[in-house]
Amino acid sequence: MGNTYRAMEISSPGVFSLVERKIALPGAGQVRIRVEACGVCHSDAATVEAQFPNLSYPRVPGHEVIGRIEEVGPGVTTWKTGQRVGVGFFGGEDGTCEPCRRGETVYCQNPIITGVTTDGGYAEMMIAEARALVLIPDELKSGDAAPLVCAGITTFNALRNAGRAGDTVAVQGIGGLGHLGLEAPMSSLRPRQADLRSVACFPVLKFGANL
Ligand SMILES: [Zn+2]
Ligand SMILES: [Zn+2]
Repeated sequence: MGNTYRAMEISSPGVFSLVERKIALPGAGQVRIRVEACGVCHSDAATVEAQFPNLSYPRVPGHEVIGRIEEVGPGVTTWKTGQRVGVGFFGGEDGTCEPCRRGETVYCQNPIITGVTTDGGYAEMMIAEARALVLIPDELKSGDAAPLVCAGITTFNALRNAGRAGDTVAVQGIGGLGHLGLEAPMSSLRPRQADLRSVACFPVLKFGANL
């Protein structure tokens, strides 16, 4: 293995550049991941087009990352090399701001956001906070798992908070996120209504929704 890796970085707003970077050691509490798959999310466009406040360039987009841990940094005790993990949009909370101290880490005032405040998965490897990782089961292919760590968790959370099992729900639009809501095998909710304007009704038919 050489001491460089390739990354697709945004060198300035709107400009993609394929670059060679020097492999970095993970810092305290971090791991370095060899990327196996990275989904493309619409939010990546905000990195490309400088729509997030205080973005600095160059920046590697990509927050639907699946890869294998190659090296663990100092103080990481819960993960080991060789494990296949996922990293999503929320790359870590500071643990000290008011929302964090209330336990609402999703509203952290100083979050690490993969592909926005730190480099993401449009690369052969990336550094991630160990506390932001999820373990990927062996039976799930990396390419199939990648969208689940952003689009999948978004729809899963929406369904989980929309009602109780057995409730009727409407999924408006069956695009990149909506179809995952319909397919979600982890949900006991059954799709019954679908947006007929969608061009992607196939999953609904497959799962027996009434159109
Ligand atoms: Zn996303
Ligand atoms: Zn915080």
